[in-house]
Amino acid sequence: NEKIKTNFIHQEIDKDLSENKNDGAVLTRFPPEPNGYLHIGHAKSICLNFGLGKYYKGGTNLRFDDTNPTKEETEYVESIKEDVNWLGFEWNNEPKFTSDYFEQLYEWAVLLIKNGKAYVDDQSADEIAAQKGTPTVPGTESPNRNRSVEENLELFERMRKGEFKNGERVLRAKIDMASPNMHMRDPLMYRIIHANHHRTGDKWCIYPMYDFAHGQGDFIEGISHSICTLEFEVHRPLYEWFLKSIVEAMPEKPAVVPRQIEFARLNLNYTVMSKRKLLQLVNEKYVAGWDDPRMPTISGLRRRGYTPESIRRFADEIGVAKRENVIDVALLEHCIREDLNKRAPRVYAVLDPVKVVITNYPEGEVEWMEAINNPEDESTGSRKLPFSREIYIERGDFMENAPRKFFRMDVGREVRLKNAYIVKCEGITKDENGNITEIQCTYDPDTKSGMEGSKRKVKGTLHWVSIKHAKEVTVKQYDRLFMDEAPDGHKDKDFLEFLNPNSLSVINNCYIEPNYQDAEAKFDDGIERYQFQRLGYFCIDKDSSDSEIVFNRTVTLKDSWSK
Ligand code: ATP
Ligand code: MG
Ligand code: MG
Repeated sequence: NEKIKTNFIHQEIDKDLSENKNDGAVLTRFPPEPNGYLHIGHAKSICLNFGLGKYYKGGTNLRFDDTNPTKEETEYVESIKEDVNWLGFEWNNEPKFTSDYFEQLYEWAVLLIKNGKAYVDDQSADEIAAQKGTPTVPGTESPNRNRSVEENLELFERMRKGEFKNGERVLRAKIDMASPNMHMRDPLMYRIIHANHHRTGDKWCIYPMYDFAHGQGDFIEGISHSICTLEFEVHRPLYEWFLKSIVEAMPEKPAVVPRQIEFARLNLNYTVMSKRKLLQLVNEKYVAGWDDPRMPTISGLRRRGYTPESIRRFADEIGVAKRENVIDVALLEHCIREDLNKRAPRVYAVLDPVKVVITNYPEGEVEWMEAINNPEDESTGSRKLPFSREIYIERGDFMENAPRKFFRMDVGREVRLKNAYIVKCEGITKDENGNITEIQCTYDPDTKSGMEGSKRKVKGTLHWVSIKHAKEVTVKQYDRLFMDEAPDGHKDKDFLEFLNPNSLSVINNCYIEPNYQDAEAKFDDGIERYQFQRLGYFCIDKDSSDSEIVFNRTVTLKDSWSK
């Protein structure tokens, strides 16, 4: 059972419960618009909403806020469901769709017209915008504001029937053109969009605006607490105005009237998080797709090797507050390191191989060394690691005329081959360009791992693989996608200018020990994740095949997080 860290929203809900609001019901929702894949910011909202649903035992709805037909697609609906489930959450019953409420919303719009609270405006978007005024200057009332109820009803029906083109009419709430809150200055309720909707097809050509759809969707579903990000704080009076206008016209007081509560969105450095920008990265092929491991999307993080546990832990660490701030992406990396350190089995892989021949080791002989899978978790046991006369080590683990503090291999020095023997470098062979093509060593048979002789003090322990046994694999290493801490925070520069040209490096001809799968990287989501000794954490990419195994580097071992 994960420990629960409470926040100010718990306090608000507890207060409502103590006043017996909504007869004690607590129901939350997560309401994505299916116009893109979910990102790490959404993960914060998911953890918060589903966390509250679980804590108060009312659960959480998943609602697709699909009121804009031109941007929404079924592909996004499917990816969102997958991501929420993968994060470890289950919504109540079936997913909901705002589009299922279009008829009810239409009826409520008619109700508002009948009660003199809404009117059809013939003006263009520009004209309406010009009349908005400023926070200190009242707006100008539309010449259509005082239309009769009959005329408004007729026009609204004609809007629905498709008699007008996009932009020719809108339905507006009749509130107060002088309100200090700009959102209360006769906001739009409906606009005309002749476009095919991913679920309702061509049934509708008028679509409700967010403000007229969201609170009403909450109300229909019996949501008690509608949690959203801070920029909606200024919309709250409107949220309440619409609900009040509907509720007061009802013959009986409904059991639950939802309440909106705002929290600070997640901002992460070195990242962009708006779906529009992420979509641009995908469409313009700066990345391979929504699930490119460099993307801050949930699917990208998953493919990168992040675990659901690490993302939930991250959400818990950052907490929930009312003030905006920017979180260091190093914290996210810290969370995955902590998780994988406990759970990822250690295996041997060499990414930049140079051949080592152990000249006094018998040709053709193979020894199967016992290698512990994870020193952090004894229950994972051990596996067999083949050792033979010819091995690969990392090119970077050898240096000619190395300084004394270089605890690796150099001619005349001894190093330990982890889980095998202590070897001494006797010589090297170079090609005509001076590149080392082979290193010769001798081994000391009395220093086999576990023997008394292995206790000899040797500075430097190297990882290695037996050439004859190793499997050739491809490794993809990722760096930050952006080189700037706030790529979309520059007025004069486009965020694309800060793309890191070296964010992906593909390394072919890497070698991994043959039995790495015996280390049994068991993760509930079926993804195999490993620690490559001394190198970092890696997972098998979903596009791997039997003929080409691809590993993605999740993170290096070095933690740069500090509080
Ligand atoms: P974007 O601005 O990236 O398009 P959005 O807010 O329009 O995102 P929605 O699909 O409407 O995306 O978001 C669904 C839910 O996720 C909303 O309740 C929203 O408040 C929340 N959310 C979106 N981005 C963040 C974020 N960075 N931090 C916390 N919550 C977020
Ligand atoms: Mg939104
Ligand atoms: Mg959006």
